Amino acid sequence: MPDQQAEKKVVVVGGGPAGVFAAIEAKRTDPALQVLLLSDEACEPYEKPPLSKAVLTGKALPEHALIAGPKGMAVHGVTLACAPVTAIDRATREVIAADGRRFRYDALVLATGSLVRELSQLPLGMPRVHYLRTEADARPLAAALRDCKHLVVVGGGLIGLEVAASATELGIRTTVLEVAPRILGRVCDEDTSAFIAEEHRRHGVDLHTATAIVGVRSATDGIEIETSAGAILSADAVVVGTGVKPNDALAAAAGLKTDGGIVVDEHCRTADPAIFAAGDAVRFPAPHGLIRLENWKHAQDQGAIAGRNAAGGSEVYRTVPSFWSEQYDLYIQGVGFPPPQPTERIRRPLAGKSLLLFEIADGILVYAMGINAQRDLAAARRLIERRIPVDAAALADPSRPLASLLKANA
Ligand SMILES: Cc1cc2nc3c(=O)[nH]c(=O)nc-3n(C[C@H](O)[C@H](O)[C@H](O)COP(=O)(O)OP(=O)(O)OC[C@H]3O[C@@H](n4cnc5c(N)ncnc54)[C@H](O)[C@@H]3O)c2cc1C
Repeated sequence: MPDQQAEKKVVVVGGGPAGVFAAIEAKRTDPALQVLLLSDEACEPYEKPPLSKAVLTGKALPEHALIAGPKGMAVHGVTLACAPVTAIDRATREVIAADGRRFRYDALVLATGSLVRELSQLPLGMPRVHYLRTEADARPLAAALRDCKHLVVVGGGLIGLEVAASATELGIRTTVLEVAPRILGRVCDEDTSAFIAEEHRRHGVDLHTATAIVGVRSATDGIEIETSAGAILSADAVVVGTGVKPNDALAAAAGLKTDGGIVVDEHCRTADPAIFAAGDAVRFPAPHGLIRLENWKHAQDQGAIAGRNAAGGSEVYRTVPSFWSEQYDLYIQGVGFPPPQPTERIRRPLAGKSLLLFEIADGILVYAMGINAQRDLAAARRLIERRIPVDAAALADPSRPLASLLKANA
């Protein structure tokens, strides 16, 4: 009989993109490894971005977009088990599941993602109140939207605005309440935020900034929200999109360092050499100190490196962060680290609903943001990654394709 104990095992906790790519890459790096992915969701890992878009508008189901591809994890040689992990026994190198099962590991990857930030006035579980993180949140929300006449969205960040766009597409009267003076304050500059706000208003969204919730009342046929502007809004449903926080309690309870996220080094390794971590849950070294990112590409890329390193590699994770969002016919993208004080901010005039903004620090492009400008954003990413010196006049000139700046410096 083969000695089960002698087989090297990588265990991954978390079935988001970071966990899935960690598991697949660990197996690909060393096919002799036994790789086990433990998820607290009873389904094949699926993509979260469609949950606020095509899943709400009824154009797709979560199971239509599996992270590992249509055939799931098994074709990659990874074993998937539904097992919420409640503790890590670092002394015996085992993770313990809620049902008491213990899984031994030689290397462990934590990819536990994020949790929604709960608003005390609109707690999780309150009737007609929805938060959106998982497919188990998206399905009842999609069902509720079918009978919804008036939706209130709390939070003018990316998720809240995507939900507002989806609801509007379904013909639902939608009100967005944002407590800050403008929407997308954490994501883009004032002009871009004004441009996106205008698009929402043009589609009929009633958008209120600098507006807080001062009261909530449940009624038999709806929910009433009282705002700081003195309005009483009667809604059939409320979606709260007020951000997320790192899901790092499991790591903290195991004595691993957390500081607004699981702290890892450039190899995605925690202070315990057998434990790696990746994705939304993690704080990692970047050029300006430790940072945490909440986007799909980061989760995928960091997860892949954590998995390869768990299988014996020693790769360094460096990233140029990026995000995308889809609202109506706007494809919004950002790439790079927005500097606190750009030496120059350049807006390239584009036709129609397109927009391009560049931020330069010391002659180097450090951040680019675009709407409906995918090709230019791809070129901007390469300029940023390669730290190619840029000419401000060329960036501002709509007749100069950005790719030509790359060629000029090839
Ligand atoms: C509705 C929505 C839309 C989004 N749209 C975009 C977009 O358009 N563009 C973009 O760039 N990003 C988008 N994002 C963000 C992106 O999906 C996340 O950044 C990404 O999913 C993070 O990946 P992750 O693997 O780190 O964590 P997660 O995807 O959060 O996965 C973590 C997984 O771990 C599981 N887990 C947690 N604790 C345990 C435990 N103890 N035991 C077992 N399992 C556990 C969780 O249930 C979850 O399945 C969106 C997110 C949401 C929610």
